[in-house]
Amino acid sequence: MAVCYTERMKHTALVTGSSRGIGAGIARRFAEEGHRVAIHYREREAEARALYTELSESGCSVMLVCGDITDEAQAGEIVSRVRETFGFIDVLVNNAGIALPTQLVTDTSLADWRRVMDSNVTGMFLVTNAALPEMVSQKRGTIVNISSMWGVTGGSCEVAYSASKAAVIGYTKSLAKEVAPSGIRVNCIAPGFILTDMARCFPEDVVAGICEETPLLRAGTPADVAAAVLFLASEESSFITGQVLCVDGGRCI
Ligand code: NDP
Repeated sequence: MAVCYTERMKHTALVTGSSRGIGAGIARRFAEEGHRVAIHYREREAEARALYTELSESGCSVMLVCGDITDEAQAGEIVSRVRETFGFIDVLVNNAGIALPTQLVTDTSLADWRRVMDSNVTGMFLVTNAALPEMVSQKRGTIVNISSMWGVTGGSCEVAYSASKAAVIGYTKSLAKEVAPSGIRVNCIAPGFILTDMARCFPEDVVAGICEETPLLRAGTPADVAAAVLFLASEESSFITGQVLCVDGGRCI
């Protein structure tokens, strides 16, 4: 069970896609550090609610918010609901995303291409556009986007996914320049292989092979990513913006 600090709350963080996997790990870590956390989900209400119950019973300040980030109205509603409950959103973590089954690019349908771009790029754009005006007017706030090592290196048979995650990096760098004069920092994390539902679709021997190819010889955990997000959202990184931090056990070296 999580152990939470009881001192005054520090920040409000909205973590998209925190019903499970990496997002749940980020939400848990922020809550344990004493931040107010909006746990966001789309379909997996039971999992999101279980995390909410676990954290709130430990004394953490958390709320639940549902919505499809690819829908402009719902993206706006997610941000509005968090503000109504917790006030100003200090930290936005754009984590929600999907992967496609590994396939040749010529086997990727237009519908799949659009789905992955909508989920991984357009959703981030919509949620950020809903949250950003208030950050700009208050001249504070931090955004952390979750890309992928495939967005850095490119991945064979992962062309659509890699392109979407490279777009997250381009978006991060451009937005960082645009809003830096307003005192807002924007960075991204490029995780390597992290054991979540998204990664569990691979057979055991493939997972073992990936671990062997990783200099640190293991898969990552949501907690590994959460620690890096916490750093990029904190004052400890106050002179860092527009950067891509690879949390990948050395795979991108
Ligand atoms: P999971 O599949 O475990 O979880 C995905 C999360 O995103 C869920 O909470 C899901 O909500 C949410 N989500 C997906 N689409 C939407 C949508 N349209 N609207 C709202 N919420 C949505 O993924 P991971 O935890 O593994 O991945 C999290 C992020 O990290 C993704 O961006 C992924 O690309 C990235 N990443 C993951 C890696 C890995 O190895 N796992 C490696 C590199 C990057 P719900 O469950 O409620 O439907």
